[in-house]
Amino acid sequence: MGAFDWFWNALGAKHDRNLKSARKVVDKAQRVAGELAARDDAAVAAAGRSAAAGDPATLLAALAVASERRLGLTPFAVQLQAVLRMLDGDVIQMATGEGKTLVGAMSATGFALSGKSVHLVTVNDYLAGRDAEWMRPLVEFFGLTVASVTEKMPAAARRDAYTADVVYAPIKELGFDALRDNQITDRSQAVQSRADVALVDEADSVLVDEALVPLVLAGTRESDAPTGQVTAVVSRLREREHYTVNPDGRAVSLTDAGAQRVERELGIASLYDADHVGSTLVKVNLALHAKALLTRDIDYLVTDGKLQLIDASRGRVADLQRWPDGLQAAVEAKEGLKVSEGGRILDTLTIQEFMQRYPTVCGMTGTAVEAVDQLRQFYDLYVSVIDRNKPVQRVDEPARIYATAQEKNRAIVAEIERLHAAGQPVLVGTHDVAESEELAEVLRADGIEVNVLNAKNDAEEAPIVAEAGDIGRVTVSTQMAGRGTDIRLGGHTEADHDAVVDRGGLAVIGTSLHRTARLDNQLRGRAGRQGNPGLSEFFVSLEDDVVQQGGAGEKITAHPDAEGRVESKKVRDFIAHCQRVTEAELLEIHAQTWKYNRLVAEQRGIIDKRRARLLDTDQAWEELAERDPDRAAELRGIDQETRVAAAREIMLYHLDMAWAEHLEMLDDVRESIHLRAIARETPVDEYHRIAVREFKELAQRAVDEAVETFRDVVINADGAHLADQGLARPSATWTYMVSDNPLAGSGNTVLSGIGNIFR
Ligand code: ADP
Ligand code: MG
Repeated sequence: MGAFDWFWNALGAKHDRNLKSARKVVDKAQRVAGELAARDDAAVAAAGRSAAAGDPATLLAALAVASERRLGLTPFAVQLQAVLRMLDGDVIQMATGEGKTLVGAMSATGFALSGKSVHLVTVNDYLAGRDAEWMRPLVEFFGLTVASVTEKMPAAARRDAYTADVVYAPIKELGFDALRDNQITDRSQAVQSRADVALVDEADSVLVDEALVPLVLAGTRESDAPTGQVTAVVSRLREREHYTVNPDGRAVSLTDAGAQRVERELGIASLYDADHVGSTLVKVNLALHAKALLTRDIDYLVTDGKLQLIDASRGRVADLQRWPDGLQAAVEAKEGLKVSEGGRILDTLTIQEFMQRYPTVCGMTGTAVEAVDQLRQFYDLYVSVIDRNKPVQRVDEPARIYATAQEKNRAIVAEIERLHAAGQPVLVGTHDVAESEELAEVLRADGIEVNVLNAKNDAEEAPIVAEAGDIGRVTVSTQMAGRGTDIRLGGHTEADHDAVVDRGGLAVIGTSLHRTARLDNQLRGRAGRQGNPGLSEFFVSLEDDVVQQGGAGEKITAHPDAEGRVESKKVRDFIAHCQRVTEAELLEIHAQTWKYNRLVAEQRGIIDKRRARLLDTDQAWEELAERDPDRAAELRGIDQETRVAAAREIMLYHLDMAWAEHLEMLDDVRESIHLRAIARETPVDEYHRIAVREFKELAQRAVDEAVETFRDVVINADGAHLADQGLARPSATWTYMVSDNPLAGSGNTVLSGIGNIFR
């Protein structure tokens, strides 16, 4: 029993969740492993296969022997315990460096041996590829197959990969493939095979932090940008008088005076009428967003009559990026450019919705306990806390508090220099790319060599992170950079391991507190791996976002010393309070957003079922023939397979288009719904009412339109000639995550290069 059991139990996480019985099984497994060690590979694999059904100890033993023989790793007892908990469907908490990759692979193999297919979900391409290759010999030992899916793979290769028993793939590729598979018109075009189990690495990041990020599939279509008239009217609006920009520079809204002026100039009674909320208001808002929030030469360039987006976090032109539907066109209109063909959103899916399609979800992370509420509430998952193999030896300093950001930044630089002078490796976690660049610049000016990482190229960054524990290294990174990479003391080869241990191990510095303590712990966990010494220090100033937001502007009297440092229990408690507030806010936003998403998820479920029926049966033909028997009779001369496929294509086309329109409509409603809230309607209820009503109509409309097309379109031995009727599916599609676009405030709109905060 650990000292904090009461705490974990209170949170719903169980340190000893079946721990006693798990220990017994593990003890037995280690005995059995001793016996299996004398047998040949085939016998061990056979023992694993037959044990998968109901003899966990023998299963674990076979997995352990296979790991030893193929990977050269003898699983620790705690790792076997973790496997047991995951096979039972829990999220396990296991500290960084404790060997979760092996645990994940053993669990996935365990599931596969019992006949279940597994998607091993990673946070990026690099880890999917790395782990699949690293763990391949273990999985193959049992005659099972393993593969990885990565961004660059073409459809045919993906289709192959998905047939493996264990598939390593980044969450976004899994989601994108699912979205694309929802557009097929023949089963044989499907790329992804659905899996029985999703085993999620970095589970809190995927299941909680990224949960509400929409994955989007878009396709080409004619543009419907704000008209020249709207753009012209909006271009004459003045800030403060006609519109206001939020302090964070991410949102803009019309004032009453602004709305009146627009209404007058466009000659309409009210922008907020049902007639205009879904159309004119959206156009006005897009034009306003383009005018007030996006600045030429900062957010985008105009080259050769074309827009090029600037990725502020990289400071480079982002070639393949475009803004979401409408906004791109709005900016083009603002700049007087030819409005390019816009994209139309065909389908969207949040990560949470996608994960909920798996019959079984389990996972692993260094920080699950702090996410217990969300995992329970949104996925019905329990957390099992697994002990460390060796006790932790990291020193976690209490946060250092400063009155102002400037004093804090000065102290951060001084502390890094102090640690560096002693040769201790330092890993600094910053909040965004701009901050890491600025810090690096100041350190370099002082003659310190710095590696900067920003999670933009995981494969290139991994070897740099791997060296972050070497003598005298200073590595500055943003939150996600280098996740999953093992930081060994003394460099990757551990050549200077002992020298670094003498210097206190890896020091981790957080330049401010995160909005949730979980992310602080995630960063802290990079130090003190596998019983190594280490140090973690966080810096916070009373001007930091967390304090400002969480404290709601409340003033607290600090009594800073000459350096601006504050040492007071009252202030410390206040800051802890602020972080709890921001944390609660995040949970609340999640819960609220999910209320909006849940209904759409249910509706998608219905569409999915209908789609599957249309794809896998002759129902499309039957329905259409029933509605228009004359036309059906006309077509009897055509080969059965061809006419059934044509009917299927027609039905699916209209179903998919109706769904895309439905999503678009709901998006607009959501955009405008806070305006209705002013009219004393409860926004979520109102949203639901509209969504249900429209969905009923959607189903009917999709069929009616299909019947019409069935009647009018040319159908012959080559099938249905939909394109002749202007009913072609988009000629090209592309995918993106909404966190990639500026509306989500991923940093693309952050202004950079205006002074250095660390000076
Ligand atoms: P985590 O994902 O938990 O942070 P990793 O899976 O990246 O950890 O593993 C960290 C390191 O531990 C790797 O270098 C790996 O080879 C090593 N490791 C894992 N399991 C064992 C084991 N049973 N014996 C020895 N080394 C191990
Ligand atoms: Mg890992």
